[in-house]
Amino acid sequence: MFWADKIAQEIKEKRGDGPLIIRDEKTMSGRVHIGSMRGVAIHGAVGEALTEHGVDNEYYYEINDFDPMDGLPAYLDEKEYEQHMGKQLKDVPAPDGKAKNYAEYFANEFLEVIAKSGYTPKYYRASELYESGKMDPYIKMALEGADKIRDIYKKISGSDKPEDWLPLNVRCEKCGKIGTTKVTSFDGGEVEYTCHEDLVDWAKGCGHQGKVSPFGGNAKLPWKPEWAAKWGAMNVSVEGAGKDHSTRGGSRDVANAIATEVFNIEIPFDVPYEFFLVGGKKMSSSKGSGSTSKDISDLFPQEVFRLALIGKDINKQINFEPEGETVPTLYDQYDKIALAHESGEEDDFTRLYEYCQLPEVRKDIPKAFLPRFSQLAYISQMPHVDLEEQVKEMKEAELTDLDKETLKNRLEYVKYWLSTYAPERYKFEIQESMPEVSLSDLQKKALATLADFVKENDEITGQMMHENLHAIKEELEIEPREFFTAIYNIFLNKDSGPKAGWFLSVLERDFVLKRLEEAGK
Ligand SMILES: [Zn+2]
Repeated sequence: MFWADKIAQEIKEKRGDGPLIIRDEKTMSGRVHIGSMRGVAIHGAVGEALTEHGVDNEYYYEINDFDPMDGLPAYLDEKEYEQHMGKQLKDVPAPDGKAKNYAEYFANEFLEVIAKSGYTPKYYRASELYESGKMDPYIKMALEGADKIRDIYKKISGSDKPEDWLPLNVRCEKCGKIGTTKVTSFDGGEVEYTCHEDLVDWAKGCGHQGKVSPFGGNAKLPWKPEWAAKWGAMNVSVEGAGKDHSTRGGSRDVANAIATEVFNIEIPFDVPYEFFLVGGKKMSSSKGSGSTSKDISDLFPQEVFRLALIGKDINKQINFEPEGETVPTLYDQYDKIALAHESGEEDDFTRLYEYCQLPEVRKDIPKAFLPRFSQLAYISQMPHVDLEEQVKEMKEAELTDLDKETLKNRLEYVKYWLSTYAPERYKFEIQESMPEVSLSDLQKKALATLADFVKENDEITGQMMHENLHAIKEELEIEPREFFTAIYNIFLNKDSGPKAGWFLSVLERDFVLKRLEEAGK
């Protein structure tokens, strides 16, 4: 069974027909790594599956703008941002000076990527949640249950909190920083705190001491109690998390214990999932480009992007190599499951294909001819080629309007890929004049024989050319590799290239003849 169906079934057995709240979140501390899109998509696909299984559900996504700035991405000016370290992301200025704040600036790009993926969660901000007062009862419970929370940390994750520790960060009324304060007492209504210069090594406090209400957005809970509190405040029934949170004794275990033992709420159904790696690494958001959700989403149209996100079982790691074979392979995989679906097969793969489409078209998916991505990459680099004509030959039938539109669309992605990540072996340029190459006598003889064949035939199809190349190979007893290398050498100044028969047949006949004769001398 397809993984999303399996999870939906399990949820239905355990939680009934709903309505259920699904939730996920991302802290907007910088450009968002593609790994976070896996969470967006898994929660989205589970929501879609629940709907199909008759379970009423709503998917909420939190833009976390309430966390402190505790690290600086490499692409930002350190001098400019140093002063803001320790402030909440909502209080840090946007890098472009236009967006409402730092968090919104990065959210803008990420929300565009989510829109492209076709998942449609309802968005809310962490600041709104705190300011609405919905977190207040949990803040109170956490402060009053500080001893219990301390014990839970000790018991589950083995971390020691000092005797006087209180699970709260207050925003300093003087300097506005939240990462630098330590709460020292709670009297049921207000907390006393000190803003320390050296509490953390990533931000400097101002030394202010104050007393303030911890409610209504003046303070925030530390991450693990906060996670549990959000489940309560948002009435969450389903929430998964990446592998890094889901290890034994990890943040999920701690949050679970706080939820049951301190807040007395039901733990959401967990959907733990593996990493989405880029180039074998789980790069942090602080690193440069190439692995952000935007970078990866730019490589695919919606349906193939969805395949990249949900195509693997959630307990399997995705390793994405933008500069390797990942991109053409993913398009090939998409075409394969599309074909299987069209032929009426029904298995996990055709179900996956349905999930690559938006729910509203899933029952009646429009059928378009999908020209192979790598083939299109080659054709698009050939001068004087009628693309539609070539694709018509691939299809062996006339192209419909939808075929043409699909071709146009896919071609945009081919061109983008060729100009960005495509490996060298996919790129070529027809050499206008004969490159400097050294050919053996046998290679020359083969090329001269090929020239004769071109001379004798006015119209040569790819198939004819292919058969003739084979015949010459046999006749002259030349190794295929030796022969083809000679062809690629003289036309592309490279040792490899697209399928030779097809390649030669789409070049201008006179040009081919002249080059072969020149090389065969
Ligand atoms: Zn301060």
